[in-house]
Amino acid sequence: MKNKELMQRDLSVLWHPCTQMKDHEKFPIIPIKKGEGVWLEDFEGNRYLDAISSWWVNLFGHANPRINQALKAQVDQLEHVILAGFTHEPIVQLSERLVQLTPKGLSRCFYADNGSSAIEVALKMSFHYWRNKGQTTKTRFINLSNSYHGETLGALAMGDVSLYKETYEPLLMQPITVPSPDCYHREPGESEYAYSERMFEHMEKALQQHAHETCAVIVEPLVQCAGNMRMYDPVYLKLLRKACDKYGVHLIADEIAVGFGRTGTLFACEQAGISPDFMCLSKGLTAGYMPLSVTLTTDDVYQAFYDDYENLTAFLHSHSYTGNTLACSVALATLDIFESDNVIKKNQVLIEEMANATAHLRDHPHVAEVRQTGMILAIEMVKDKKTREPFPWQERRGLKIYQHGLTQGALLRPLGNVSYLMPPYVITTEQIRHLVKVMEEGINLAVAN
Ligand SMILES: *Cc1c(COP(=O)(O)O)cnc(C)c1O
Repeated sequence: MKNKELMQRDLSVLWHPCTQMKDHEKFPIIPIKKGEGVWLEDFEGNRYLDAISSWWVNLFGHANPRINQALKAQVDQLEHVILAGFTHEPIVQLSERLVQLTPKGLSRCFYADNGSSAIEVALKMSFHYWRNKGQTTKTRFINLSNSYHGETLGALAMGDVSLYKETYEPLLMQPITVPSPDCYHREPGESEYAYSERMFEHMEKALQQHAHETCAVIVEPLVQCAGNMRMYDPVYLKLLRKACDKYGVHLIADEIAVGFGRTGTLFACEQAGISPDFMCLSKGLTAGYMPLSVTLTTDDVYQAFYDDYENLTAFLHSHSYTGNTLACSVALATLDIFESDNVIKKNQVLIEEMANATAHLRDHPHVAEVRQTGMILAIEMVKDKKTREPFPWQERRGLKIYQHGLTQGALLRPLGNVSYLMPPYVITTEQIRHLVKVMEEGINLAVAN
C-alpha cells in the first residue's frame, strides 16, 4: 500500500474533524501506518516527530510496550460491561487512585468517554445539585473569555473561541463571560502575578452580581490551550476558589488538556493549592490510547443526590461506553508509569530544555512572546513586534510552519499564528532542540514577504 492510494480512498469516504475538506485539494492527508515512541511513520517510511502529542493526548509515546501489555492482558479478560448495576476491577482501582492523586476533597468519580461529555456531566451535576437543594434560580454559568471546553452544545456554550462557536450561537446557552486573566495582555513590565490578580476584579464583580443565578464558574486552570495557549498565574485560581466559597457558587476545573503533568505538576490546580468542586479529566488520562473521561466531585455534591428513589434526585445520566474496561486498564498502566518512572520530576529536565532552546526566539523580529507553563511552550508570531498587530488570519501563516515541519519530519500543528510544543514525555532533549530549529525555520518562512 502506498500513501497515495489510502489518501484517495480516504477522501472519497471520510469527513475529517476540524477540517475544511476542500483544503485537501492542495494539502495531502498523511496516512500513518505505525507509531513508535515520539515517531509516526507513513506507508512510504517517512517519519514525523509528534511534537503536539496527537492533539495533546499522548504522554508516553505511540505503541508504548508497557501500555500495550496492559491492554492485551485486559482484552482477554473483559472488554466492557454495563456500569449501571455492575462494576469491574480496573474501574474500582482507577477511581481509588484518582481520588488519592487529585486535590483533597474530590472523592467521587463519574465516567464518560470524551472530554466534552465530562464537561456536560459537570454542568448538569452542578445545576442539579442546586435544584436538589431547593435553589431553582441557579441556572447559569460563568466562564472566561478565550476559553475552550469542547464541542457538544453545552460544552461549546461554555467556550469562547469564536472560530468554533459563532456559527452555533443561536443554539447555545448564554454564559456570563468574564475577561480572561490571559497574561499576553499585561502591561509592559507588569508581572503575571500582578496582572492575574488585577484581572480577578472582573470575576469578583460578576460573582457579586450574578451569584444568585449562577451554578458554577468554569475555567481551564493556568493554560487556555485551544485559545492559543494563553497562560495566567495560579493566584487567579486561589482568589477564585475563595470567591466561589464566599458567593456559594461551584468551581469547575477543566483539566482535560492541562492535567497529567502538562503544566509541570500532575494537576494544574496543585500550583494554586486549591481543590475545585468538579474536576474534568480526559486526554492524558489514557496516555493517548483510548477514549475515556472522568468528572470528579466532592462528597457534598454526591450527598445531595443520595436519597430514596421515589424522591427523584438521582443523576440519571449515562453513555453506552461509560467506564469502558479496556480504557480503564490503560489508564491504570498510565498511572503506573507516572509512579514508577518518577515522570513529574524527570520532566523538569525537558521543561528546562524547552525554555533554553527557545530563549533566543524572544528577540525574533516577528515573535511577540515566548511563553511556557511546564511542558507547554508557545511562540506567538505577529506582524508587528512593537504594536503586536497580528498577521491577518486569512493569510494562514501558521500553516506554513506546519508544512515546513512535515518536510523536516516534524508534526507541528500551530493554532493560528501560535506554534507550540506539547510533546510526549518520552521526547529527548536533543529532539526538543531539533524541533525548535524546525519551528524557527518555519517561522522565518511564514513571516517572509
Ligand atoms: C480537548 C478539550 C476538551 C474537549 O475534549 P474532547 O475529548 O475533545 O471532547 C475540553 N476542554 C479542554 C480544555 C480541552 O482541551
